[in-house]
Amino acid sequence: MTDSKTPPIAAPASRRKPKADIETIGGRRLKPSTLMMGHGYDPTLSEGSLKPPIFLTSTFAFESAAAGKKFFEHITGKREGPADGLVYSRFNGPNQEILEDRLAVWDEADDSLVFSSGMSAIATMLLALVGQNDVIVHSGPLYAATETLIARILSRFGVSFLDFPAGATREEIDSMMDQAKALAAEKGGKVALVYLESPANPTNALVDVEAVRASRDAAFPGDQKPAIAIDNTFLGPLWQQPIKQGAELVVYSLTKYAGGHSDLVAGGVSGNQTLINIIRPMRNVIGTICDPNTAWMLLRSLETLELRMTRAGENAAKVCAFLKAHPKVEGLGYLGMIDDPRQQDIYNRHCSGAGSTFSLFIRGGEAESFRFLDALKIAKLAVSLGGTETLASHPAAMTHLSVPQERKDALGITDNLVRISIGIEDPDDLIADFDQALALV
Ligand SMILES: *Cc1c(COP(=O)(O)O)cnc(C)c1O
Repeated sequence: MTDSKTPPIAAPASRRKPKADIETIGGRRLKPSTLMMGHGYDPTLSEGSLKPPIFLTSTFAFESAAAGKKFFEHITGKREGPADGLVYSRFNGPNQEILEDRLAVWDEADDSLVFSSGMSAIATMLLALVGQNDVIVHSGPLYAATETLIARILSRFGVSFLDFPAGATREEIDSMMDQAKALAAEKGGKVALVYLESPANPTNALVDVEAVRASRDAAFPGDQKPAIAIDNTFLGPLWQQPIKQGAELVVYSLTKYAGGHSDLVAGGVSGNQTLINIIRPMRNVIGTICDPNTAWMLLRSLETLELRMTRAGENAAKVCAFLKAHPKVEGLGYLGMIDDPRQQDIYNRHCSGAGSTFSLFIRGGEAESFRFLDALKIAKLAVSLGGTETLASHPAAMTHLSVPQERKDALGITDNLVRISIGIEDPDDLIADFDQALALV
């Protein structure tokens, strides 16, 4: 029991800060892997608890009626700047606020928002930024559910889209911006958003974000610029930070590398404060925030993010070196082994690592690929990626089963394509597993 002088469990440092957050030492800016252990949380506010407690509450008590009014002025957008206090758990909570502070660190973003899934992050962002008769310009292919959301659901509300292939050149992107402007003018709307996904799944084609930024700025010289958002799930936040290449918003399925243990579903959006301030009220209205327990698990996950992703990336490099030389392997779609000089140039400018998710082309077709998948002993047969364990799946028969054949052909989703996400197991054990499974093909 605590005596009457002990302060109650209270809000995190983001709001009431008896201790300032340390972000630099001797002029040295601390790295994300250091900041993940304490940034945004002061134990003195929670009985000295080293780790933040999980705040399971649906609502927060106001100290006074005037304080309640002030908090609501933030929620309703009557007052700018960070909120002074928490109101209701559909809007925010202590665990989510700490998580948002830490997530923003990785991309050096102004601010972050966390969501109940990657898709709810994307949907909330789209609902906030796109209006009736507007046009979305996007790279292709996108995550299948994102394509569905844009092409089949937003279209019901008069939103149209134009897409360019992920590997497009500056000229091709320029031409798409011009077409989008013309289409928006014809429909009486605006070009509301440039939405990218890089690398694309399962082709691993990279988008030239710098070229997209230059093209967007040239096509929209005035103040009414469509924001550039990018799904950074596959390489972020460790191996790619697209805000540095000119994106204004980065979107995550935190379910993947950020969560990293295949035990939660969540999403995030990080970026420019003005845009985050537009997306937050939409999340407040529709309640797509992640729950406190998931936020707490993500805080734990972010502490080991660099360790996990580094190990997974090293493992993937070793496994791919083995697979590349194997006679039963027709080819690899791995960012550490790019053939195309233009793609290599984008990689050099945008990425600091090749990731651990790649495409493996087995000699043969579906039957040979299925034999390989069924023979794997360590790698689990499952969709998703970015977990501690190695996963393998067959896009043509699984994630992309409903994609029409001609689009599959265009995207190179062949029957001999196996998608692999390498985990943090011992690399030689993984190689032994792939070796014995290939022997049975
Ligand atoms: C998984 C994934 C999503 C969707 O995220 P959920 O957390 O499953 O909602 C979006 N984009 C990419 C690239 C993904 O891999």
